[in-house]
Amino acid sequence: MLPQSYKAALSSIRFVSLLSFDINFAFAVLLQFFICYLQVYCLKKEDKDAFNLLEEKEGYEMNGAKRSSEKRIMFVFFFLVIATSFSACNQEGGILDMTYSYDANTIYWPTAKSFILENVSWGITEGGWWYASNEFSASEHGGTHVDAPIHFAEKGRTIEQIPLEEWIGPAVKLDVTEKCEKNRDYLLGVDDIKNWEREYGKIPDGAWVIMYTGIGTEYYPDKKKVLGTHKTGEEAIPELSFPGFSPESVEFLIEDRNIKGIAIDTPSIDYGKSKEFKVHQVLCGADKLALENIANLDKLPASGAMLYVVPMQIKGGTGAPARVFAIVP
Ligand SMILES: [Zn+2]
Repeated sequence: MLPQSYKAALSSIRFVSLLSFDINFAFAVLLQFFICYLQVYCLKKEDKDAFNLLEEKEGYEMNGAKRSSEKRIMFVFFFLVIATSFSACNQEGGILDMTYSYDANTIYWPTAKSFILENVSWGITEGGWWYASNEFSASEHGGTHVDAPIHFAEKGRTIEQIPLEEWIGPAVKLDVTEKCEKNRDYLLGVDDIKNWEREYGKIPDGAWVIMYTGIGTEYYPDKKKVLGTHKTGEEAIPELSFPGFSPESVEFLIEDRNIKGIAIDTPSIDYGKSKEFKVHQVLCGADKLALENIANLDKLPASGAMLYVVPMQIKGGTGAPARVFAIVP
């Protein structure tokens, strides 16, 4: 039989667990409850033995002291359960936002139109109430955005033809930051994929395979450091320099693995020096998806996260700005 104070503590914990609606939290509370119960059980036993010894030795009446000691232990116990449960949950994953905000600094292809935001109304109206409204315009392919297969395949699907579930899949992060630091024009090879698989197992079905170059993750939105040039227009094209997937690596992923798409923390899945955008051609030709300028890759685990990509639903869109996030275990 549990004493009344234990029962009260237990029902409080159960209430907190229900409030959070979080299975991880509930599990953490239960685990901590079990651990702390064991600790208290041992403490109480030690106390009892000590009191018995004192009573025997000196003939004291210890009932009052016992009760206050029990209260003190219960307080510590209850505090430990709640504190350690919260800290256990905080150490776990959650939602990782992998999206850059759109503003005047958003990185676009040097020949594309940038993001423009204009205030239409912004202030107190004649009627006395506040009213704010903007207009925006931009190219489809800039900032954190997706490519639909039509981008490089004549008969490919447009944005609104791709079902929502196709944008969701396990995140596989290939960390090639060291190689990209030594060589800005690094091409991801089949070896990089196989190295990942040696450590984490075969790429899961329906995965997003993400190339973590470190270039965008560290320097976005610094155009010179990300694109290799701060110039805009045609004169910028010969100066573009950043890493990308090799066509062979993408052919391997399409033919030998079952992926949803590929993603990268630079402005293009093809490297900066590419002339014919072979990776785009191969990927879009295979009806797969791409995601560019993805943020916060340093915080994404190499495996185990689930990636959610929510593009703006543009009818006939060849690409679209997207809200991207991962559920991290
Ligand atoms: Zn694009």
